[in-house]
Amino acid sequence: MSALLLVFSDLDGSLLDHHSYSFQAALPAVEALRERGIPLILCSSKTRAEIEPLRRQLGNRDPFIVENGAAVFLPAGSLQRIPPDCRPEGDGWVREFAPPRQRWLLELARLKAEYGAQFTHFEVMGVEGVVAATGLQPEAATRALQRDYSEPVLWQGDDAGREAFAAALSTAGATVLQGGRFLSVAGDCDKGAALRWLRNCYQREDPARDVHDLAIGDSANDSAMLESARHALVIRSPVHGFPPLQRQENTRYSEEFGPAGWARGVLEWLQHLDPYSQE
Ligand SMILES: [Mg+2]
Repeated sequence: MSALLLVFSDLDGSLLDHHSYSFQAALPAVEALRERGIPLILCSSKTRAEIEPLRRQLGNRDPFIVENGAAVFLPAGSLQRIPPDCRPEGDGWVREFAPPRQRWLLELARLKAEYGAQFTHFEVMGVEGVVAATGLQPEAATRALQRDYSEPVLWQGDDAGREAFAAALSTAGATVLQGGRFLSVAGDCDKGAALRWLRNCYQREDPARDVHDLAIGDSANDSAMLESARHALVIRSPVHGFPPLQRQENTRYSEEFGPAGWARGVLEWLQHLDPYSQE
């Protein structure tokens, strides 16, 4: 019996070019997955509002994972059996792994009394502020502001203050991660836990088949996902080194950057699996 194949992929710097955000170079491999009916599960720090236009451009109808594993969206028809821990959402379902953004907004409002002008965050910055801080186009900033589970914070004070501020948020239950520009304030979730949950959903639909999953990513926030899958494809970045990984087996590092490395790695993975899937 052939294996059940799944691909979980990061977006920025992996499926999407780090500079141009184009997925053009990956299209031959995206098409190869589609021809074989292999789900391509997008898994990003991006919001649902940011991921959905991309799914439309790619013609993708598979489940997707938002805000660094905060939630898994299951569009209608993507799974045959809806897991019991999901709730209906739009025309599909969602499994949430983190509390709503509102919880962190309340916490930040409370911390304003102590830290005042030393920080600002997306909700306060609005579209104009986010455009100014990130260089995003206004439409893209609008989508980035439609967040459900996490809040980017711009720290404007000194390092010692930032430590105390982050500690206060942690005490309140938040996970605080330093990104390139922003502190990300969110619940305790990661892409790896979301991958494992969704893989189990697929496995339950077809318990007799082996699941062969491939995780693809380029950054530290992909490490948990890359460690969780049977196969890992680590994409070379033009701006930083490979993320740290414990695993060595079934792990491939791309020569090319972004979507070109993505395409070659996925096609090689398919080639490598073909002898098995014909068993
Ligand atoms: Mg990335």
